[in-house]
Amino acid sequence: MIVKTREYPAVILSYEALFRRTFPNHRKRSMMETDLAMYRAGYRGEQILDYHLSGITSPHFAIFHNLRLFDHKNPFQLDTLLLTPSFALIIEAKHLSGKLIFENDFDQCIRIKNDQTKERIENPIAQSARQQSHLQSLFRWMEVDNLPVHSIVAFTHPSIILETSSPPPKYISQLILVENVVNRIRKHHHFHSKNLLTTSQFERLQTRLLHKHAPLIHALLKKYDIPPGTLRKGVQCEKCNNLSMTWKRRSWECSVCKFRSRTAHIAALLDYFLLVQRSISIRECCDFLGLDKRHVAYYLLNSMGLSTVGKSKATRYVFNFESFGDEVLNGKVLEKSN
Ligand SMILES: [Zn+2]
Repeated sequence: MIVKTREYPAVILSYEALFRRTFPNHRKRSMMETDLAMYRAGYRGEQILDYHLSGITSPHFAIFHNLRLFDHKNPFQLDTLLLTPSFALIIEAKHLSGKLIFENDFDQCIRIKNDQTKERIENPIAQSARQQSHLQSLFRWMEVDNLPVHSIVAFTHPSIILETSSPPPKYISQLILVENVVNRIRKHHHFHSKNLLTTSQFERLQTRLLHKHAPLIHALLKKYDIPPGTLRKGVQCEKCNNLSMTWKRRSWECSVCKFRSRTAHIAALLDYFLLVQRSISIRECCDFLGLDKRHVAYYLLNSMGLSTVGKSKATRYVFNFESFGDEVLNGKVLEKSN
């Protein structure tokens, strides 16, 4: 049973915002495109994993997609966590093509790409072991340290070939092809047949994990050294993609194609929150959306149900994902502009 669905990744939303708000000839454009392609491939792998897990509907198997937790010191992100009353299983998706060779010597992982170039990559098992240790530490802190935590890496690309040295490294059984994931879960279930949590403890743990989830918003302006003041401002037209909408007679109108919208500011504000900062004042809102009347900014921000901090002129409207509709957050509206 899916307890937490996989949202459209915030990092991909942020990159899409970055492409809208920087010029196509930006000097770091190709680096940004390469980085975004990597995140998109990762998301594709996670979707393939989700497809294979979709048949697991029993309430005794609680599935959390894309959880970001703190082990009270460090943040850690889990592609998928399967929680049962008798064990927990972390499943990392890796969407790599080509051939991967896992060598006993130096615990190396060598990747041979489809164009035959060879590179050493971080052994996926090392990342998986770190996450396992973070989750164990969180469970200890939550006083559920009797629950065994396992981790596996599922390779999701249809053309991946896995090879090992002889004898194979001892972690090799933790690496699987995605089509075998359900079988592997069955094996774990068979091995851990005794429930260690009562039904109420199991349900309480699910609620606590959901509560602890804190999505990360990547600081892309810092990453690419882009001053916030150089971003392109304005409200984008969803028909012609120009940042050309002006507020007229209680709605937005595109000065290029005359398309009208009452909600075009929502995607623009999401861009601001993802890229610039997590809260906005009336003055900053007027500046970013190109409004000359404060009362319009006040009306638009209040109509979105954003919470506020501060009073009168110091009021700031605080970002939360819940104030933005699914259409914006699952990339449907935003994809059109890429
Ligand atoms: Zn237009």
